[in-house]
Amino acid sequence: MAKKILVVVDVQNDFVYGSLGSDEAIAIVPNIVKKINEYRNNGDFVIFTKDTHEVNYLNTQEGRKLPVEHCIRNTWGWEIISELAVEEESPDLRKIRYKDTFGYHWDYLPWLGMFELGKPIYEVEIIGLCTDICVITNALCLKTEFPEVEITVDASCCAGSTPVKHKAALEVMESCQINVINKN
Ligand SMILES: [Zn+2]
Repeated sequence: MAKKILVVVDVQNDFVYGSLGSDEAIAIVPNIVKKINEYRNNGDFVIFTKDTHEVNYLNTQEGRKLPVEHCIRNTWGWEIISELAVEEESPDLRKIRYKDTFGYHWDYLPWLGMFELGKPIYEVEIIGLCTDICVITNALCLKTEFPEVEITVDASCCAGSTPVKHKAALEVMESCQINVINKN
């Protein structure tokens, strides 16, 4: 059996309750908490990503195209929501990964693509926000970096920038051989 890794994308105050928050994001918080607890109780790894911008955000390309300040380093909006109870100090496989754009550079974790007896050691499940921006980007980055690793997205633990875009992103991910579960 492959070892499981849960990637929790950008479940930060600004994407749930703050400047880019939504009712859909608030609604999935209990599902996210439940999923993280399942992984923790099984001793599986949980990696959190944190969207991280600086005070010059509005002068970056992302800021010009989306002029809504969010996830500015060291602000409340940048923090992962308290419901997830993320430890600040944690072993390497549970560390927070900081990213200044939609995707993380997953090639920094080459062990993710390791094989044992001809089969990948790890499989990855992705949850979080937003389905049509950072979830899909990281799913495709992981698929690109580690084509033999099974990548699954749990739709019941994701919310999009709109409900229509959430659904559209799930369909595009399925086209790209990402396993999408709990679609309805
Ligand atoms: Zn951002």
